[in-house]
Amino acid sequence: MTVRNPATKEILGTVPKSGKEEALKAVDAADDAFTSWSTTTAYERSHLLRKWHDLIEENKEILARTMTLEQGKPLEEALGEIHYANQYVAWYAEEAKRVYGELIPESSSEKRLFVQKVPVGVVAAITPWNFPAAMITRKLAPALAAGCTVLLKPSEETPFTALKLGELAERAGIPKGVINILTGDAKEIVGVWQKDSRVRKITFTGSTPVGKILMKQAADTMKKLSLELGGQAPFIVTNNADIDAAVKGAIQSKFRNGGQACVAANRFLVQEDIEEEFLIKFAEKTARLTYGNGLKEGVMIGPLINEKAVVKVSEHVQDAIQKGATIVTGGQRVLQEDGYFFQPTVIRNASDDMLCMIEETFGPVAPISTFKTIEEAIKRANKSPYGLAAYVFTQEISEALAIVEKLDYGVIGLNDGLPSAAQAPFGGFKESGLGREGGKEGISDYLGIKYISMSSN
Ligand code: ADP
Repeated sequence: MTVRNPATKEILGTVPKSGKEEALKAVDAADDAFTSWSTTTAYERSHLLRKWHDLIEENKEILARTMTLEQGKPLEEALGEIHYANQYVAWYAEEAKRVYGELIPESSSEKRLFVQKVPVGVVAAITPWNFPAAMITRKLAPALAAGCTVLLKPSEETPFTALKLGELAERAGIPKGVINILTGDAKEIVGVWQKDSRVRKITFTGSTPVGKILMKQAADTMKKLSLELGGQAPFIVTNNADIDAAVKGAIQSKFRNGGQACVAANRFLVQEDIEEEFLIKFAEKTARLTYGNGLKEGVMIGPLINEKAVVKVSEHVQDAIQKGATIVTGGQRVLQEDGYFFQPTVIRNASDDMLCMIEETFGPVAPISTFKTIEEAIKRANKSPYGLAAYVFTQEISEALAIVEKLDYGVIGLNDGLPSAAQAPFGGFKESGLGREGGKEGISDYLGIKYISMSSN
């Protein structure tokens, strides 16, 4: 399979197109390795994860460059992602040592009741292209820490970052069979894994429709599931907000990775009195964002991942214009560049019937809509099948609390445009998914609970 640079459309290289046979061999390897890996001590696994972490740190420049070439994000942002990705490895190297069992008080003196936490078994991880390193480490690090072995199918758009991480894991001394990376046909490979009862867990980050397919497939062998799916994040700015802080948060949340993040602010709900000021400042900053090839010095926004992405973003903008919105800045595909570029865009007078207010745009488009009362903002924010991230900007503490407590979202940035952190639980409500990644919750998704009742009779 060929892999292209989205900034130039040039072919970067090829990766093997694995299919059913390789998928099965990978399960054999992961299953074999599980016997020994699951019985290593937490300290041994922690030590190997730490070595992997150090090698990632040593190789961050080449990893970041690889990522920019295949994914498009600016080099500095790619370096930031490697750092963030590596925090998961560091965190779970530590958490490996804190998987505690329990002793439960017995109701009869002849009995002893224990709870042990055990690795769930072979895990299949399916990852997307938008964060080619972080989406891998936040699955693999807790899985390995828990004592699971892993099958990984990275996105076909960004396999090189994944393969490089795999090579570093091998150099760190993680035994053969513990991490198995397959590039190739997603449906074929994952289809084999889903049918195989030796695979005990599926962990997936990607679109909601694919997540639903995976959930249905997993039912046949009753696999455990972690799903990080789509979002439609509202970004609420009230009359009591610090406008400059809100603009800063909006730029971070909307334009990081060119808007290609499941937690990216998708729709802006701004209270009437401050709309003018917020809009002027936000549009001015947006218009100054430089876009281009991510390897060029000073570029702040890279290309979108492919043609399909540009078409979707263009459709959302056209739909908004047709339904009465106005473009404040941007609004066009960039034709003078070879790659998949779209101008950073701010839209005014957005309404809830527009595609950009309902669906995940996954691009650099910020639609702004006004609201009158806080109740209205909360109601509109919650009116979505998604429930991943939401943002609230206000300086008024009781207002902040009232909004945050009523929002039906798994991750909330309160005066914060970048809420993700390796040590915190990340995940969505409703159709945004199941389970949590990061934090102490992130490892429990890879553990089974074994209860032992021992009688002395
Ligand atoms: P996106 O639209 O962000 O690319 P997808 O959900 O299509 O998100 O893809 C995320 C990951 O899921 C990728 O690794 C892709 O190869 C994989 N994938 C896509 N479709 C399927 C499928 N039907 N079965 C298994 N994996 C899939």
